[in-house]
Amino acid sequence: MLPDYRVRQRDYLLDILQAITSRLDLNEVLRLVAQAAVDVMTGNAAMIALVEPAGRIRIRESIGLSRHALETLGAGIERASEDPGAPVDDGTGDEAPTRALVREAGLRSLEMMLPRVIAPNAGLLEWIALPLSIGEDFLGQLYVLRRRGGEFSPNDRQVLQSFADQAAIAVNNARLYQQVNAQKQRLDAILESTADGVAIMDGSHRVVLWNRALAALSGVPAGEALGRDFEAAIRLSDKRAGSTLTEAEANGWPLVGATRPLFVEGDIERPDGAAVSVEITFAPIFAREALLVNIVANVRDITRFREADRLKSTFVSVVSHELKTPVALIKGYASTLRRPDARWDEKTIDDSLGVIEDESDRLAELIDNLLDASRAQAGSFRLARNEMDLDALVTEIVQRHRSQATRHTLTADVPGDLPLVFADHARITQVISNLLSNAIKYSPDGGEVKVTSRVTPGEVIISVTDPGPGIAPEMQSQLFTRFHRLENALTQRTPGTGLGLYLCKSIIEAHGGRIWVDSDGQHGSTFSFSLPRA
Ligand code: ADP
Repeated sequence: MLPDYRVRQRDYLLDILQAITSRLDLNEVLRLVAQAAVDVMTGNAAMIALVEPAGRIRIRESIGLSRHALETLGAGIERASEDPGAPVDDGTGDEAPTRALVREAGLRSLEMMLPRVIAPNAGLLEWIALPLSIGEDFLGQLYVLRRRGGEFSPNDRQVLQSFADQAAIAVNNARLYQQVNAQKQRLDAILESTADGVAIMDGSHRVVLWNRALAALSGVPAGEALGRDFEAAIRLSDKRAGSTLTEAEANGWPLVGATRPLFVEGDIERPDGAAVSVEITFAPIFAREALLVNIVANVRDITRFREADRLKSTFVSVVSHELKTPVALIKGYASTLRRPDARWDEKTIDDSLGVIEDESDRLAELIDNLLDASRAQAGSFRLARNEMDLDALVTEIVQRHRSQATRHTLTADVPGDLPLVFADHARITQVISNLLSNAIKYSPDGGEVKVTSRVTPGEVIISVTDPGPGIAPEMQSQLFTRFHRLENALTQRTPGTGLGLYLCKSIIEAHGGRIWVDSDGQHGSTFSFSLPRA
């Protein structure tokens, strides 16, 4: 028979252990363990030192010890861990002290200092150290300290050690829980901050996670998507490839062990009316017995790829069209001239060679433009800049274009004393020529094409005004992008590649200037560019 107080002690221990093991907060568990250790042993103080991941010992909890005592002990452990003694030569040449050495040095220092630190401060005289271990795994040590003299009896030790063994389990659980929680938080943070849109849904498509990128991409905030059916939260239109979740499931998706991911490509219709091209891949997550528990949807914005794709097809059609015309003309004239049965007079030969020469120039210019466009795209435009006179250049280019423009009057209203600019002569010539030929090309009924200038404190501005049909304001924003041509009858019957204005913009911006158009879409248009004054 156990004496009465032992029974009470045991019952109390059982109660307290039950309370402790049901907690998952590590700090709370440690506090309860320390408190119970003091209560059970009618001790005056207790302290729990745990092993940290690198082997360092840290006093994580204490009762009845002064802050000074704890700081002194902590500093001693710190010193011992910094210099734990000779590292074990494990043959790898790795000089770093091993985890076990650091741990032993920390515990040794703690126990050596304990009597010196506690006796003068708190009058604590005897103490017992109980390892908190689970099997081979040493988690730390529980210390119970008492003021009165006399040793801890073998029975005290036994009771305390069985308490410590149980407490170790609680500490371990709380620690594991803490780790799992920290890992979950990290995973959540990663999912939340990944650049791709991520949604996690349960087996019946109900959304349980909707990350920030997806909220931004779809325009649907997480608060609205959570709990809804995935396909109702994300409305996909214009499906181009793959199959939607519902379609795939109708065909037996997901098969356990299938390696090909399910994907669908289309446009998301945002609540604000805009559409975003996306590719969505779906990955099933199975629990035991092939039970589908989650589906992870990865939503990627592929607007840029689609745009690149569109540009590629435009490029191919523009280039083939623009190449075909001059090549056909050159071939036609050359074959005609070479016909063995015909004799051509001097004038016909000269005219034909003239066409061949002009068309070859057109081809060369097209090739140059394409090369320039790819350089501009790669950001590798090289400028040979010098101080230059824009007025002289404008006059010269206008003069040159007069011979080609029989139905137009070209005027240059540019004063001879324009401030100098620091620019690439050939490139600026290209810009002005381009604007001038567009002005002529896109005002087929003729009229006056004017080049004017304006000076501001920082810039010189050159403008080319034509009497054509103009460009409606809503059409103007795309005008300076690669291969962009307006969708109107005039443009359709006028040859061009949609590269001219793109190149003008690239050149002017490389000079630190700006380029823009003013037009009301009825009374002609004025293209202007500015260059910083030298
Ligand atoms: P291209 O003339 O080779 O088509 P540009 O890049 O020079 O290419 O011009 C892009 C488009 O802008 C043209 O296709 C045309 O639709 C429109 N555009 C350019 N200049 C004018 C203008 N002066 N008046 C009306 N439309 C213009």
